[in-house]
Amino acid sequence: MLKTVTTARELRMATTDWQRRNETIGFVPTMGALHEGHLALVKKAQSLTTRTVVSIFVNPLQFIAGEDLSNYPRQLEGDAKKLESVNCDLLFAPTPEEMYPPTFKTQIDPGPLGNMLEGAIRPGHFTGMATVVAKLFLQVMPDYACFGEKDYQQLQIVQQIVNDLSIPVGIVPVPIMRDADGLALSSRNAYLSATERKQAALLPQTMFDVAQKLRDGGDAETALEEGKKRLTEGGFRVDYLTLVDGRTLEPITAPQKNARLLVAARLGKTRLLDNTNLLTETPTTAFPEVA
Ligand code: AMP
Repeated sequence: MLKTVTTARELRMATTDWQRRNETIGFVPTMGALHEGHLALVKKAQSLTTRTVVSIFVNPLQFIAGEDLSNYPRQLEGDAKKLESVNCDLLFAPTPEEMYPPTFKTQIDPGPLGNMLEGAIRPGHFTGMATVVAKLFLQVMPDYACFGEKDYQQLQIVQQIVNDLSIPVGIVPVPIMRDADGLALSSRNAYLSATERKQAALLPQTMFDVAQKLRDGGDAETALEEGKKRLTEGGFRVDYLTLVDGRTLEPITAPQKNARLLVAARLGKTRLLDNTNLLTETPTTAFPEVA
């Protein structure tokens, strides 16, 4: 049976025991409703360390008013079985009260990266994310922590806070896992109706087509405008489809080595995020995106 703890105290007892025996710890923070994308992070962590801890915590601080906090899919029992099947060593599943007792006041502001793109649309989201990730790092004290490229801005912000606060954790990016039709796996895909799920494949298709045009030397502004139009005609409300510097996330007008194409769009009530690099052709199969 997978060992599950709900308090930081029990967690620390397990991890200090490992550290005393010179074991190394890999950490995968999640909000649960686990899928193959999450399990890819677990497998990556296992390849780097001798012990792997996964956290499942639907962090109220990173949901803004009117978002899906109470409806967010929660399936702890099924998640524990999935983690057991990949030989995860420990599940940390704290309650909101454990993480945020009534005395809790501190928040971490990750600076400009937290205010652009997703941060502009979801004000306060990245402060909540940065705060919980920093707290989880201090609770777990991992050697490495794995984050999906699926949430590209989040990954850049986590790297920023680890650098800025000298947190001794290696941040390991993991490529995006996709369904057979190219849609990036996400716990929120469960919100899509059957019809919307079919329509949703247009998002990665459009993104990859725009990426290919850019690789072929097409004009970026034109390619991005055409991509937005195609998505809008396909029933999406596009929040952004933009070419950015992969580190600063500032918009760029032509491809460069670390360029990243980022997209966020709504289909019905579901908000979908995706991104890709411009270096390689990207598969549209259930396999990880080639880095
Ligand atoms: P979440 O549970 O959605 O907060 O995600 C937890 C971690 O899993 C984050 O680092 C995500 O970027 C990562 N993740 C989510 N979906 C995928 C995916 N399709 N491929 C790779 N990583 C993912």
